[in-house]
Amino acid sequence: MQNYIDKLIELKENDSFRSIKNIEKRISKYIFVLDRKMLNLSSNDYLNVSTNKDLVFEFLDKHKKDDEFLFSSASARLLTGNSKSYNILEADFCRLFNKEAALLFNTGYQCNQGVVSSLLKKGDCIFSDKLNHASIVSGLKLSQAEHFRYKHNDYDNLEKILKDKRNQYQNAIIISESVFSMDGDIADLKKLVELKKKYNCLLMIDEAHAFGVFGEHLAGVADELNLLNDIDIITVTLGKSLASMGAVCLSNKTIIDFLINKAASFIFSTVIPPVNILWSRFLLEEKFEYLKGQKEKLNILFNKVHKLYPTVSSSQIIPVVVKDAHKTKELALYLQNKGYYVLPINPPTVPVGTSRLRISLTADIEYNEIDNLFTEIKNATFLAK
Ligand code: PLP
Repeated sequence: MQNYIDKLIELKENDSFRSIKNIEKRISKYIFVLDRKMLNLSSNDYLNVSTNKDLVFEFLDKHKKDDEFLFSSASARLLTGNSKSYNILEADFCRLFNKEAALLFNTGYQCNQGVVSSLLKKGDCIFSDKLNHASIVSGLKLSQAEHFRYKHNDYDNLEKILKDKRNQYQNAIIISESVFSMDGDIADLKKLVELKKKYNCLLMIDEAHAFGVFGEHLAGVADELNLLNDIDIITVTLGKSLASMGAVCLSNKTIIDFLINKAASFIFSTVIPPVNILWSRFLLEEKFEYLKGQKEKLNILFNKVHKLYPTVSSSQIIPVVVKDAHKTKELALYLQNKGYYVLPINPPTVPVGTSRLRISLTADIEYNEIDNLFTEIKNATFLAK
């Protein structure tokens, strides 16, 4: 036991100890922590849908009599856990992403892990951006394929590795997020498509933070750039902009059939409940125009904020990099005392020496609220010490 205790002490000393916060409730763009109301700048509810009670009540009124209004699926999908709404939700996603086939997973984590670990085997290789999400890293570690992690968004570095290594392996895949979760910067999808074609690789893009925020069909950066058909595998999670739960992998029928047969995180897990599938369908099928309106508001907000506070970000996620973990924590507490719910992000979630606040903008936030926030950050003179 002592080695666990020592490790926990070390985490505390490095300001990297994680604990679950006492959050009372979330109402619209606000969060209530220990009776204090703060502007919520740490949520992935980018379109402010999850706390919209009008939508929740409308959904309940319309759908509570449905046969599928059940709170448990009581089984994996391949056993008795399927019903027609699951298939319809997948068809909705195929339509939005202009893809042949789709497969629902319980979470984005399980989706990325399952896809990467099952598609690539011994003799194959994976080229993965260094800042890709932990779920992708977990997938590449679980797979028996060789992997190479290229410098973040550095396509010269990726090409150099491809040139050196690609032809030593059978199947190969390049994996990147579109909007990166901790920096809000965006991968150059055109360049990735060019490289995947030149070096005969599959291309997988995780649009977790872009789905709902970019693209005419809300289908992310590839949609915005008209590249949906050039990307072999797209993953999205439904727990962020869609204010629901689950994740979807989009690809062709061969890949999806392969995942149904080989992705352990899909096969061996009780599928999310039907009521949740109905809610996702309700939002996509009946409230799409509302979602699009929220997306437009959010796009206007973050474009304006980028002019106020230029960073690497081109999206709704704005990093305020303080570097030092202790100072980052102090700044977060200072801002919380002023009514802004921001959280420190420390290693190993981000590289050592890049501790930061991750400010995530949501559609209902007003520009002047963010203007005031950045004035407070400038006033935090203790940062200069
Ligand atoms: N992919 C990225 C880029 C993420 O940031 C996250 C979660 O934060 C996930 C995947 C995992 O999604 P989920 O929360 O649905 O497990």
